[in-house]
Amino acid sequence: MENNKVRVRFAPSPTGKLHIGGARTAIFNWAFARANGGDFILRIEDTDPERSTEENVDIILKAMEWLGLDWDEGPGVEGPCGPYFQTGRMDTYREALELLKQRDAVYPCFCTKEELDAKRRQAEETEGGYSGYDRTCRSLSPAEAQVRIDAGEPHVWRLKVPDGHGPIEFDDAVYGPMSFPIEAMDDMIVMRSDGTPTYNFAVVCDDSNMGITHVIRGDDHLSNTPRQILIYEALGRPVPQFAHLSMILGPDGKKLSKRHGATSVGEYRQRGYLPDAMVNFLALLGWSLDGETTLIPREQLCREFSLERVTKKDAIFDETKLDWMNGVYIRELSAAQWVEAAAPWLIEAAALGFSAPDAVQIVPTANPSDPSAPQPEPIQVTEDALARAAEYFGAHRAWFEQLYPLVSERLVRLDEIPAKLAFLFWGTGCQLDEKSVNKVFWKEGALAEEALRACFEVLGSQDNPWEAPLLEQQCRDLAEPLGMKLKNLLQPLRVAVCGNMVSPPLFESIVLMDRSEVLARITNVIGKVF
Ligand code: GLU
Repeated sequence: MENNKVRVRFAPSPTGKLHIGGARTAIFNWAFARANGGDFILRIEDTDPERSTEENVDIILKAMEWLGLDWDEGPGVEGPCGPYFQTGRMDTYREALELLKQRDAVYPCFCTKEELDAKRRQAEETEGGYSGYDRTCRSLSPAEAQVRIDAGEPHVWRLKVPDGHGPIEFDDAVYGPMSFPIEAMDDMIVMRSDGTPTYNFAVVCDDSNMGITHVIRGDDHLSNTPRQILIYEALGRPVPQFAHLSMILGPDGKKLSKRHGATSVGEYRQRGYLPDAMVNFLALLGWSLDGETTLIPREQLCREFSLERVTKKDAIFDETKLDWMNGVYIRELSAAQWVEAAAPWLIEAAALGFSAPDAVQIVPTANPSDPSAPQPEPIQVTEDALARAAEYFGAHRAWFEQLYPLVSERLVRLDEIPAKLAFLFWGTGCQLDEKSVNKVFWKEGALAEEALRACFEVLGSQDNPWEAPLLEQQCRDLAEPLGMKLKNLLQPLRVAVCGNMVSPPLFESIVLMDRSEVLARITNVIGKVF
């Protein structure tokens, strides 16, 4: 390892998915490494066998990859300090314990759980609170302790908090000078009786052996830091720079949790947020470039991120801002990039369309604010339709690119795509929104039917090339001779072809479908709806 090279790590425990808070910590570490020409290490803290799962490891790695947080060392990227799973590093913890023994910085403790529980209960009842282990075993002579160890008596190893040690002080890069009274530190366990290290011990061994220079992590670890500093000192190793990140709160000012909606990175991915938008948004939860700039592409973040601009004020997770930002990032994509990013939803749109019945149907308007109102029956996407859709997508990428300008202006999340674009794949069928049918067809009656017939003539004329501007002009030109308002002329066409009075640009959509299908929809509507 080069001297003075910045080395930071993200150290998730695979006891759950990657959550928003963890992702923010990962982004800060990653951006800090990049901005300083340093190394970003991913370490999996899987020492809790009951709660760690391989599935969670996989989810975390996938989420990191999706966010584009590439690591220089870690799972799949071997480096000089591996392995990068704590379960593979057990010998390093044993070595560190040996070192602590040589330095007379630890002692074996034979107190049983029952004894400790009883002491705790008594302290709580008579002394007004438990202030930690009472150091009973610290006074055992080394010889006596060795006899008990040799006899196979179960024991843990505890750190000897040095006598005469002053308060534990460090200068946190975010919180500033911190001081913890030494009296609050009991002789903590570093190695359990089953030979596994405690969290604080394993983290210090790893950070030390991996040459970590800056520990950037959530402030839920702030109270661990003085304990960890005691372990560094006992090992005779340099203490890294600490930077603790403030909490992330929901818009109601309470700690971000499930109550606020999605909390895992995977859920945001499924809801159609772009990784670039996510990284930009999360980077601003506690950091700012200049207090004003909100759009900070990842290249700029990697150049300009600094711990000086991390605030200790709690950050507010504002999903409205994320939605806005996602829309901005969607509009910055090229059509080809959009098709790539939106592939699952474009396939879903096609599958939905292919699964719709080949008939004219009037479906209740969705009413999310009143769940007791009739809701549209969701169309069951068949396996066959999904397979056809995937195949169709693979073979028609260029065609799908033409959909980008139709929707990009208004798109907030990619998961809105299926509902917006399924109509392109209905063939000759029509799924007509009830509210639109009422307003545009039934209220207007003969007028709407007349408008449809007139537009049919224009679209059906083989002399007219299948081009949006020309077809649009010719349809618009009908308004005057028919004595109709443009709206009365074109809305029926929109509802007949797209199923809804709100749709992507009408003629640009029409020309992406087959002329025969468009004509068939109009004919069917005229025959069945009026
Ligand atoms: N594994 C710990 C956690 O997931 C992080 C430890 C650290 O960053 O020091 O909370």
